[in-house]
Amino acid sequence: MTNSKKIAIIGGGAAGFFAAISAKEHHPDAEVTIYEKSAKVLSKVKVSGGGRCNVTHACFDNKKLLSYYPRGANYLRKTFEQFNTRSTIEWFKKRGVELETLTDNCIFPKSNSSQTIIDCFLNEAQKLGVVQKLQTPINDIHLTSTDQFELISLNESFIVDRVIYTTGGQPKNNSLHWLQNFKHELIEPVPSLFTFNMPNEPVRDLMGIVVEETTTKIEGTKLEATGPLLITHWGMSGPAILKLSAFGARLLADKKYNFNVLINWLHTQKELEVRTNLQETLINHSEKKMGNLNPFGLSTRLWHFLLEKSNISVDSKWKELQGKKTNKLINTLVNDRYQVSGKTTFKEEFVTAGGVGLSDVDFNTMESRKVKGLFFAGEVLDVDGVTGGFNFQAAWSTGWVAGKNVI
Ligand SMILES: Cc1cc2nc3c(=O)[nH]c(=O)nc-3n(C[C@H](O)[C@H](O)[C@H](O)COP(=O)(O)OP(=O)(O)OC[C@H]3O[C@@H](n4cnc5c(N)ncnc54)[C@H](O)[C@@H]3O)c2cc1C
Repeated sequence: MTNSKKIAIIGGGAAGFFAAISAKEHHPDAEVTIYEKSAKVLSKVKVSGGGRCNVTHACFDNKKLLSYYPRGANYLRKTFEQFNTRSTIEWFKKRGVELETLTDNCIFPKSNSSQTIIDCFLNEAQKLGVVQKLQTPINDIHLTSTDQFELISLNESFIVDRVIYTTGGQPKNNSLHWLQNFKHELIEPVPSLFTFNMPNEPVRDLMGIVVEETTTKIEGTKLEATGPLLITHWGMSGPAILKLSAFGARLLADKKYNFNVLINWLHTQKELEVRTNLQETLINHSEKKMGNLNPFGLSTRLWHFLLEKSNISVDSKWKELQGKKTNKLINTLVNDRYQVSGKTTFKEEFVTAGGVGLSDVDFNTMESRKVKGLFFAGEVLDVDGVTGGFNFQAAWSTGWVAGKNVI
């Protein structure tokens, strides 16, 4: 087979550019064209990570890396064997982009600007001769009698040999209707990575407080997460909440975003440990006011809030902490219940669960198992990660593998 094939990349986003560059590098004779529906490419990269673009995560054990993907982990294993976080770092380094790892292991460009990543992609694409067709939405795709693809746009159509489909996450599967002709499984999209609204909870008065180590659970389910929690003016956010939203994306959608969340404000401390701590404080500081002595290192505002929620006056003395009051306080500290009614989009990063079903895609190559010559990459697949650079990592890995195997 010659390499002078026409390759169409549908969608000029993160996965599309990575796939286009990979295709051209692996198959220099191929004609690679990106078809982008809007007037601008890489718009999400631009706004990503608050304009800084969290390109990947310093997690170099593929098995651990997979644990950050609520959907797609079993499939991505094959893709990460070929292109993983280390490959991403090397890829950018080779192209002169310096990256920096922050204390939470998130990796950003040293410039602190997503424009650095965009410039890198645009330069590479131009150098390799990747063509960009802007304002060219591809609304339909047919197979021709010669096993080529006909791409239908607004007033024109294009005949190509291969298609890499990278149109990103969509709130509805309407734009994937053409896949139904090929009996491709489509998974109903639902949002992932959102924060919890708590309109009836006074805890919102504590907005701005961050508790570095918490455990969060969705009541009545096995969903559990750990990490920092941020109290906001609408409810709760932070990694311990966002992880629940991601792993529970489908279940919480079924519940119409009405459920209870349970918080352990003391990370993984159990009742017995907390009881011992309270008893020791009572013995050693019996005359001190409870509001003035907080044995758990919580912020004073939160400590006072939790005392009051346990019907304990901040002016009461430690020696007054007895019986039921102790039990109530322990329960508030390690199993504190909040009513959630609704969600808010997490502005730094949000993604869609659902899209192209994974069992119809070979993740060794990213080729469809139903249609030869058709490949997928990025968020259009039913793959998504938690926050921290994992969604881009999936886009880079699947894009690179699709580009490599496209011919
Ligand atoms: C605000 C925000 C911040 C984020 N920050 C981060 C972050 O810091 N780190 C991280 O890992 N992830 C982040 N994400 C997630 C990440 O941006 C996505 O997972 C990633 O962009 C997916 O890449 P993609 O190429 O699959 O899709 P996209 O980047 O969405 O690109 C799809 C492209 O296809 C085009 N398109 C769609 N339909 C058609 C069509 N029919 N014809 C032609 N073109 C079409 C779209 O216009 C778009 O340009 C963030 C997301 C958001 C919304």
